[in-house]
Amino acid sequence: MKIAIPPSWRTRIDRYRLKASRCKDCGRTGYPASSICRFCGSRNIEYVELVNEKARLLTWTVIYSAMEGFEEKRPVIIGVLETVESKARITAPLTDVLPEELKPGIEMEPVLRRISEDNEAGLIHYGISYRPVLK
Ligand SMILES: [Zn+2]
Repeated sequence: MKIAIPPSWRTRIDRYRLKASRCKDCGRTGYPASSICRFCGSRNIEYVELVNEKARLLTWTVIYSAMEGFEEKRPVIIGVLETVESKARITAPLTDVLPEELKPGIEMEPVLRRISEDNEAGLIHYGISYRPVLK
């Protein structure tokens, strides 16, 4: 039985809200959040949340050989997206979509989804996935 709180639990709120950092000097937004701008090195940062922003799909990869415990989720699709307003790049699983339905540029939205269950400790891990915006 685990006695320590896993890091995924401690960081869950920031992950669920897609906490990012916006640089007040160069104006760019980086995800995940960092106290130093990854584009220009500035420490003049404000934190923003991207969970209410839609994103456009840039590219993706399909994984058919999912690791143990994730067999039911095959194929796993991992996408690289750019949020519409902040232009932040996010790498995240894609859900509610088949690989053949994906096209570059389609609009997607973040949703909270169950990732895995820790049987021993009874913890259920959640994370953000992106799904196509239904028109
Ligand atoms: Zn910057």
